[in-house]
Amino acid sequence: MKPFTYLKPHDIEAAIPAGTPPGTKYLGGGTNLVDLMREGIEQPDHLVDITGLHLDGIEELPDGSLRIGAAVRNSTLAAHPKVRKGYRVLSEALLSGASGQLRNMATVGGNLLQRTRCPYFYSDAAACNKRQPGSGCDALDGFNRSCAVLGVSDSCIAAHPSDMCVALSALDAVVHVQGPGGTREIPLTELHRLPGDTPNIENTLEAGELVTAVVLPPPLSARSTYRKVRDRASYAFALASVAAALEIEDDKVTRIRLALGGVGTKPWRAYEAERLLLGGPADEQAYRRAAEAELAAATVRAGNAFKVTLAEATIVAVLRDLSKAGAGS
Ligand code: SF4
Repeated sequence: MKPFTYLKPHDIEAAIPAGTPPGTKYLGGGTNLVDLMREGIEQPDHLVDITGLHLDGIEELPDGSLRIGAAVRNSTLAAHPKVRKGYRVLSEALLSGASGQLRNMATVGGNLLQRTRCPYFYSDAAACNKRQPGSGCDALDGFNRSCAVLGVSDSCIAAHPSDMCVALSALDAVVHVQGPGGTREIPLTELHRLPGDTPNIENTLEAGELVTAVVLPPPLSARSTYRKVRDRASYAFALASVAAALEIEDDKVTRIRLALGGVGTKPWRAYEAERLLLGGPADEQAYRRAAEAELAAATVRAGNAFKVTLAEATIVAVLRDLSKAGAGS
């Protein structure tokens, strides 16, 4: 591992200037970054540990929204009574990710910014535009079973790995950041970038900006759930996943939130499916039409074409089960 300096500031005012110089990374739980450093994929000169910044609170705000500090551990968030009661989709998504031990270490901020698990990204013998810009992409015609089918480019087809972010996308979460230029708020749906020609640039954060919190709007009255389809029942990334909230009145869809994981190069908010469903009949035919419309934009490779059918079927199954559970009742 390349040598680096380590600093643990105790307030944000000290952390931001320390985290701004090129070659500096913020460190949360370290469950992804330290692995990448061991592999030589990340080679920061300086680490700024943010776990001393008191960003580990979960607080209900006066308008009913929920403010979650960036250093809150994934397991703490999943178990929080307000999350279990008002944001079930988020609790389920968190509990479907990684292992208990990793969830105990991983932070909200780290989960937001975790990097792909494309196998070629981890091999310096492989061409990978994300790791080495301009080197090519061995996944295009290689082992691409885990890769994305939505939001892909000729430069990169890596799937975004997070479950939490898929739920946050469906919940219209807003990411709060602080940097050298002050504070700003970024809708979760705008935090991650599509790969385009620069898959090495994965998010819209500016140099030195630190994620300080995620804010969830007040809970929906709709029922919500997260379903993850994967190769084994635990400790596996999604082949396809669905975060959904559904409300039905008089057999019509009156509220719908839908986001997909495992199939997109970023957490994929299914806006087209939502548009088709809202105000229409709450039946299986409509769910299928909406799922097919959302996946119509898919670009598949030899190894991952199955994801289209899998994602469509998962969307339909999730909406059907939410309907049966008495969505909105
Ligand atoms: Fe690298 Fe992206 Fe290609 Fe994977 S899909 S090899 S991460 S450029």
